[in-house]
Amino acid sequence: MKKEEIGFGYKKPEKQCTDKHCPFHSNFGIRGRIFIGTVSNDKLRLSPTVEWERSIFVPKYERFKKGRTRVKAHNPPCIDARLGDRVRIAECRPISKTKNFVIIEKLSD
Ligand SMILES: [Zn+2]
Repeated sequence: MKKEEIGFGYKKPEKQCTDKHCPFHSNFGIRGRIFIGTVSNDKLRLSPTVEWERSIFVPKYERFKKGRTRVKAHNPPCIDARLGDRVRIAECRPISKTKNFVIIEKLSD
């Protein structure tokens, strides 16, 4: 079975691939939360680290401090994000022990 859209209106990458964890070219669905982050480590081609900044509330000082969230995300061959790329990632079912996000879009800026 082949799907044309993954929903949410994200555009399909131009390249094709046969990755079974690709949300565009296989039956792999996304669900849950969506974030925008930067690829901070691409040594593992298929599982780069994506991180983004967020504010963490510190009750003792009643102020926010800067924090960073870092997750591993799956990098389908048709998207092929590299170090420093801004990407949109979506939550999905766990692909491995530490990987439950998949890159769905490379953002140009
Ligand atoms: Zn693909």
